[in-house]
Amino acid sequence: MSEKKFFLGFNWKMNPSNIVDSQNLFASYKIPLESNKNCEIVVFPPSIYLVAGEIFRISRKIKCGLGAQDLSAADEGPYTGQISAKMLLDTEVKYSIIGHSETRDHYGLTNREVNEKVKTALKNGISPVLCIGFQRDPGQTEINYMELKTQIQAGLRQVKKIKLELHTKIIIAYEPVWAIGTGKTADSETISTVHKFIKEVLISTLGVRKAEKIQVIYGGSVNDTNALELSKIEGVDGFLIGGASLSPEKFAKIVNDLNAI
Ligand code: PEP
Repeated sequence: MSEKKFFLGFNWKMNPSNIVDSQNLFASYKIPLESNKNCEIVVFPPSIYLVAGEIFRISRKIKCGLGAQDLSAADEGPYTGQISAKMLLDTEVKYSIIGHSETRDHYGLTNREVNEKVKTALKNGISPVLCIGFQRDPGQTEINYMELKTQIQAGLRQVKKIKLELHTKIIIAYEPVWAIGTGKTADSETISTVHKFIKEVLISTLGVRKAEKIQVIYGGSVNDTNALELSKIEGVDGFLIGGASLSPEKFAKIVNDLNAI
């Protein structure tokens, strides 16, 4: 393991359907997290559970961070349905997923809007998990390097100028859309090649000093049976995990496996 901890983001998406289940799921994370040393772990529940989740996390001493699944590009104002960076910070939420393919596809989020959200997050001390790397056609598995490059450059436009606060960082999640929730992962060679490419684009976009602090993580059907193998791929600095995060057993196995290295 490098000195940067392996990043594990657990994206609950729109689950579970009530607060009791959300707290039970969160409580089930406590024991596996007790022995965690190798990973930085952040849980991304639906925003309606964030406040109770944070109170629960502190009272039960659950050793992980909390993140939002999205945030508004605006600091305040008439934006019905949105949650601002300041509201998140007020709830001790220090991470936000930005530009998840489900958000881009369902709400027509553009690269430009993604960029505005990333800048708002960083200016407010929220660490963005910027999702990139999906193809529009769910069946398309070949890599579209041009699209990847555009998503990185557009998503991080003007970010070079922003002075990051000490605890704030940028995480890039490479998530081929055909791999999300399908049980199929990209193969090791593809993941390694794409992560190397992403790191090169990050250097040319942000400069070496900023780029080398960025973690590039993989997302797409990571689970208890493949996390350990996938973690060994060169250039993989962590995972964004959806479906498997809803199972206490899978969560425990993933965390335990990655701590046995
Ligand atoms: C995700 O939601 O970002 C994701 C990768 O989901 P899953 O692990 O279910 O494929």
